[in-house]
Amino acid sequence: MGHDLTSISRFNVQEGQKMLGVHPLRNQEAAEIDANQDQVLQDGEIRDYLIQRGDIPDLDKADVDIDQVVSDFKVHLRKEQPIQQSAYHSYEQVAEELESLATRFPEVAERVSLGQTTEGREIWALHLSTGVRDGETLSKPGVVITGAHHAREWASMEAPLYLAGQMAEGSISDPEMRRRLEQGDIWIVPCANPDGYEHSRQEDNWWRKNRRPLPETGSSAVGVDLNRNYDDGKPEHATLYRPAGDLPGRTDDDFGRATSDNPWDDTYRGPSGASESEVQALLKLELGRGNIKGVLDHHGYGQMVLYPWGVSNKPVENLAEYRRVGEKMNKALNNSFRVIQSSSLYPTSGGSHDIHHANGIFSMTLEIGRSFQPDRTRLEDICKSVAAANLVFIDEILARHDSPPPTASGPADEYLLA
Ligand SMILES: [Zn+2]
Repeated sequence: MGHDLTSISRFNVQEGQKMLGVHPLRNQEAAEIDANQDQVLQDGEIRDYLIQRGDIPDLDKADVDIDQVVSDFKVHLRKEQPIQQSAYHSYEQVAEELESLATRFPEVAERVSLGQTTEGREIWALHLSTGVRDGETLSKPGVVITGAHHAREWASMEAPLYLAGQMAEGSISDPEMRRRLEQGDIWIVPCANPDGYEHSRQEDNWWRKNRRPLPETGSSAVGVDLNRNYDDGKPEHATLYRPAGDLPGRTDDDFGRATSDNPWDDTYRGPSGASESEVQALLKLELGRGNIKGVLDHHGYGQMVLYPWGVSNKPVENLAEYRRVGEKMNKALNNSFRVIQSSSLYPTSGGSHDIHHANGIFSMTLEIGRSFQPDRTRLEDICKSVAAANLVFIDEILARHDSPPPTASGPADEYLLA
């Protein structure tokens, strides 16, 4: 009997002086990486592959720990889990932590499910405000803080979770925190993509999308990139989800290189706008509740503060305001971030901040950390400094909770490739 070729490790990665086998399930990917075809995936080959895939962003703009990213990718190739995993909460632990905060601080906190995922997990929010139990918060300006749209961006889940604890606990001991909860209606959603997050913890630390099977595509591909799936259904905003000339089911006309109609791609936008239950759940809160004035989404990595548009290199009409708030947040981050327009990193469509902005909501994205899964020694600093920047954002929204009304037409028609 011969060996089943698909079960044999044909490639190795180098780890110090050691050679470690690539998992057979990764053989196809390994063959793409192995440029010189010597069956050994050198760090340089891996780096080039990750840059070409966009998993390492533009090094002129993003701050990247390349060695860590390459090392974590080798963990993916071996189908193991990074040692830093134990520093991160599981989805279940997040659910318990939010419930514990609601139990310990019932006057200002409640745990709310915004909806359910394909695999039946709840999308949990911690709702923070004085009067939260009496339903007396709708008259206050609302701020939504989200994380982990992208499964593998683990620190983007920890930072909002840390903020939730800080705000709930501060409601008793810190007058400034108390003031925020009296003035504002705060919603913190640490894990927007629970199925994907757990898949990235248990099966594949490089997983990015949600976990919905895609029978409508006629393929066995799984998952939609949630941050390419935002759409409010308004005809005048249709090009924010799908720019003119980018036809469904075709990949040769895909917008930029970071939004795809190929269901196998990491940046697959989905069969239609807001097709995914996770996106529907968040939009119901952000656009449907009626009082939300600011949204701050967390991603990882690259140490950047991003503001709209993602779909266009046109400036937003309130650019000066975005830049001012962005720089103020950056100050709280020890000026270690860059404040840039989202499209200048790479153009995308269907991104959350574009849809928010088009609906008059002040919306920004933080790319935190210098790799997808920063190690334990860095995580605490990241959470603390990002929480400080979050409070700057919240204070700005509460102090001046209006963003100028959006322009009548979306900007996408005028998109020019830089
Ligand atoms: Zn992301």
